[in-house]
Amino acid sequence: MSVRLSRLAQRIGHSGTMAADERMQRLRAAGRDIVSLGAGQLDFDTPAPIAHAGRAAIDEGLTRYTPVAGTPALRGAVRLKFERENGLVYGDDQVIVGAGAKAVIFHALLALVDPDDVVLVPSPAWPSYASMVSLAGGRVVPVPIEAASGYRLTAAALERAIAAANGRARGLILNSPHNPTGAVMSAADQAAIARVASSADLWVVSDEIYEHLTYDGPFASFAAAPGALERTLTVNGVSKAFAMTGWRIGYGGGPAPLVRSMEALQSHTSGNASSIAQHAAETALRLTVEGDPAMTAERARFRAALIERRDMMCAALAAIPGVSLVKPGGAFYVFADVSRRFGGPVGGRTVTSSSELADALLEDAGVAVVPGAVFGDDRAIRMSFASSIEELAAAMARIRAALA
Ligand code: PMP
Ligand code: GLU
Repeated sequence: MSVRLSRLAQRIGHSGTMAADERMQRLRAAGRDIVSLGAGQLDFDTPAPIAHAGRAAIDEGLTRYTPVAGTPALRGAVRLKFERENGLVYGDDQVIVGAGAKAVIFHALLALVDPDDVVLVPSPAWPSYASMVSLAGGRVVPVPIEAASGYRLTAAALERAIAAANGRARGLILNSPHNPTGAVMSAADQAAIARVASSADLWVVSDEIYEHLTYDGPFASFAAAPGALERTLTVNGVSKAFAMTGWRIGYGGGPAPLVRSMEALQSHTSGNASSIAQHAAETALRLTVEGDPAMTAERARFRAALIERRDMMCAALAAIPGVSLVKPGGAFYVFADVSRRFGGPVGGRTVTSSSELADALLEDAGVAVVPGAVFGDDRAIRMSFASSIEELAAAMARIRAALA
């Protein structure tokens, strides 16, 4: 007997970002020399005091179930983080910890989306938003963001998308710093977006997972905009800030009824996030808000390395004919428009799309990138600069040669 998959499952493919990485790993395992610019994670190790807290949690027997919404200690650290770093004051019943920001966003969408509700999502965007909206029974209407305006999400574009949703728009997903473009929203743009969200009575999920990785200016939390707090779930996590993608800890803060519902849903799905990882994450957040000198130095080291890598990669790409980019202000990706190369040769073949160009770079040049099509923009490719400067230099030389 063959297994027949549900209609729901048939609608959802594997995450394009994760698939790109897994394909690269398979080629490497087969002995191919590949430089990866595909990674959605820092190449640094988790800082020593955090890793130590994880080991200590096992030794101290912190290996049992915790409250579904997270340990009181971690929830306390999350509240302190939101208050000190973002100016957001949440009560204990307004914060929740889940198995990565992914789980937090998914439970939020399950709690918010009714069948055929429209959720407005920037385009391009991290692909899991659309898949999760679809799993929750909703429909996505894209809010276009364009390279020509620095990938800013404007109130005008949002209003057009609301109109296109024909009265069905219920929610909005924001992501700043933005994956894949690295765009960071200004407080002024957020205030304008908050006004539109209020007048259309939209809920907002603000994904701020790349908060700590901003390079050029201040970071503003969306919920701090006038009128935004009551309608917003702020999502964050330790994956990107502390090089902890494997630990699987994300968290959110928002209206108590929403958080309670997310907790109820989570009690039937993943349950609590790992008790060991929660202990480590609590250490990460506490040391950071307390200004621990070793932690501050480690984070400054991450940031300095990322700025050097970003600047090197942007300069190298800008010098390649037919490639254009907007310098990212945050996260660790360059989203470069390569569409002027379509119809021409890359490596040994003619390419006509971001996927074909990514295939040519992988197979002919040994460089892994993520095609823009994965994010809903076929003109571009995403390249991560979360690799050593030597690897990035090698990758840039290979790309230059393939596009020569
Ligand atoms: N949001 C964005 C924009 C991301 O790029 C990622 C990366 N995986 C996530 C959320 C999920 O992060 P986590 O590891 O906390 O699930
Ligand atoms: N968010 C990262 C990326 O965009 C990691 C993979 C994922 O979770 O989608 O590559």
